[in-house]
Amino acid sequence: MSRAARRGHAHIAVGGPLLEGLVIASHRRHFAVRLDDGEMLGCVLKGRSTALACGDRVRVARMAGGGSIEAVLPRTTLFHRSDAFREKLIAANVTQVVGVVAPDLSIDEELLARWIVAAEAHDCRFVLVANKADLPGFDALLGRLAPYAALGYAVVPLSAKGDVSSLRPWLAGQRTVLIGQSGMGKSTILNAIAPQFAAKTAEVSSALGTGRHTTTHTTVYPLPDDPAGGWVADSPGMKTFGLAHLAPETLAHAFVELRPLLGHCRFRDCRHDREPGCAINAAVARGGVMPHRVELLRALVAESSAARGPGK
Ligand code: GDP
Ligand code: ZN
Repeated sequence: MSRAARRGHAHIAVGGPLLEGLVIASHRRHFAVRLDDGEMLGCVLKGRSTALACGDRVRVARMAGGGSIEAVLPRTTLFHRSDAFREKLIAANVTQVVGVVAPDLSIDEELLARWIVAAEAHDCRFVLVANKADLPGFDALLGRLAPYAALGYAVVPLSAKGDVSSLRPWLAGQRTVLIGQSGMGKSTILNAIAPQFAAKTAEVSSALGTGRHTTTHTTVYPLPDDPAGGWVADSPGMKTFGLAHLAPETLAHAFVELRPLLGHCRFRDCRHDREPGCAINAAVARGGVMPHRVELLRALVAESSAARGPGK
């Protein structure tokens, strides 16, 4: 059938077996799906009940003019953030969160701490990239990141403009969300890691029918030559990272250094505030736990309780 004829019969099923693929990008009810043979297909999702995210694996029926998503394969995780009003999907099937920081911009450490909590709460590994190793102030940056290394998080130094090879082993086989304040170098890293795919954004946009690439949405970049099907998701524009959808117990467990202390407070419903016999406050007093981490936990618990409403 000619291209024009196909256009003229949009969304008429052509038949044949269902194809499997990965959701690369989305715009309303339109999805760019990368089929396992590498072909990019613009797809629609029928019905309103299914929530679909980038990173989901789907079964697709080929139709004239594109595809129709017939099924979503079971997902391991659904990584999201929230504000007081709603949850925002970032990506499905994530195994790792990589945060990017650099010496030439001021780091929002609360934001960084929130990424770590999100990673832990979704059972994802967290890795910190210290980018722009070529710039002055890089050693001071590494010094500032030492407390995160002490908590057990890998710090990977690199210069995205030069050489990203130190990051490759950390990405291999993982399904990563790349996260960072604007200007830290995420796009530069992605272009170095997945150059073939980064050049294909026009194809993705045309699959979505958006005309041009919209940078406010998540885009998934399959890693080249990764037999395990690893990918990196870029999720721009996250100046805040709400965690109100996480329950207080989940939040507390997301602080690795507090885990051994949980359950050892005198009161079972201890808020680790001014309660007597609080194991966490005792650890802070001994110098074993950083006070600002406990302050963040309290703030997150308060945020989460407020979102749940009074009495919940
Ligand atoms: P994004 O907003 O996180 O996507 O950041 P970009 O990738 O657009 O990078 C922001 C700026 O930092 C750009 O001007 C890059 O050229 C620059 N940049 C990225 N990586 C490096 C690096 O390793 N060294 C230096 N000196 N600059 C870098
Ligand atoms: Zn306590």
